[in-house]
Amino acid sequence: MASHVNTPPHKQGATRGRALCDLENTLGKDKMAEFGITEPLNWRFRDFNDIDLPPCNHPLLAYTPGSTGPFWHAPAPGVMKFRQAFDLGLRLASYLLDTDEVLSFYTKASEGNFITTGTGANRRVHVEDVNMTPQLIKRTKDYIKSRLFMQRLHFSMEGHNEHFTRFGQVLKDTGNLAATGSIKKNLEMWEATTFKVGIAFHPDYAAYAAKYHPLIAGQSLATRSEHLRINFDFAVVLLHEICHIFEYIRSPFANNRPADDFSDLGSIHMDQLKKSDEWGDGFEQTLFGGYHAPGKSTDIRLPKDGLCLLRELTDGDFIVQIVPMDRLQYWFSLKHLKERFEEGKEWPDEVDPMIMMYSPTLGRF
Ligand SMILES: [Zn+2]
Repeated sequence: MASHVNTPPHKQGATRGRALCDLENTLGKDKMAEFGITEPLNWRFRDFNDIDLPPCNHPLLAYTPGSTGPFWHAPAPGVMKFRQAFDLGLRLASYLLDTDEVLSFYTKASEGNFITTGTGANRRVHVEDVNMTPQLIKRTKDYIKSRLFMQRLHFSMEGHNEHFTRFGQVLKDTGNLAATGSIKKNLEMWEATTFKVGIAFHPDYAAYAAKYHPLIAGQSLATRSEHLRINFDFAVVLLHEICHIFEYIRSPFANNRPADDFSDLGSIHMDQLKKSDEWGDGFEQTLFGGYHAPGKSTDIRLPKDGLCLLRELTDGDFIVQIVPMDRLQYWFSLKHLKERFEEGKEWPDEVDPMIMMYSPTLGRF
């Protein structure tokens, strides 16, 4: 769903391609409604006020003009409008950032040693599985709330600006929904303790925020469901990109090399056995059982029509699960989040989501 800017532009072709989900054309609107893909089947929410997630209070996501936290840069009509449109996504991300499950993944990304196995063509580098302890998890929790971490982070909703010169092109070339990388232009000025990391979001998010109006988004079950999907997608992308911050802070110095050159080390896999070397995808697989794919059939890449979850098979094909709205609503329910993340229960039973096969070679379902 998103990319990091570690890969130099000439190497972009080597990055695994992502399936785009053309749901409406593939399934048709009636079928999507029948399976609860566009609107929840089990229960209805009448109002955004029904959502009881606590306010976004994680310092990494907070925004106070003039503060020392991560600078948020958004085109007109500005940051506050953006935050209003993505309030639900920010609240979800804020909740998840304090869960052991998310923090464990970040702890592995931040603390795990790089292990090399095999030689020649079979050589592979992966991050070791760290033995999680409450102390380690707390250290990560405190670290991402620390001034040191926050001051090196800069969010941009524009896709690019003067600090993010390479990002706009990467988003355009890849079609990804966000990119993370250094915002230093001159790599010779690299300084391990002070370099800043930027997360640039695809301009479609800002375009959605610019058009957003709470009354319009809230007027029908269909519009509310769409708004929830888009906010969920934003939260997933945000947490995905934070994985790359750890990668970016660490990997550049694996062999005293700047982040733009992984050529000697090769790619670093998050997991010894899984195929993808994309740390953010690894994160999504862990948390959601697959990773989310941008939409294709609309004028924006956000999940307007429905949300696809991709599971990669060993032969390079994908199983595509279509996420029903009922499941999405659990993610915005404090009761269900607590059961899942604090009490260790499974999600409630849900209507079987639809499953399709996608062939990247053929580029179609
Ligand atoms: Zn990524």
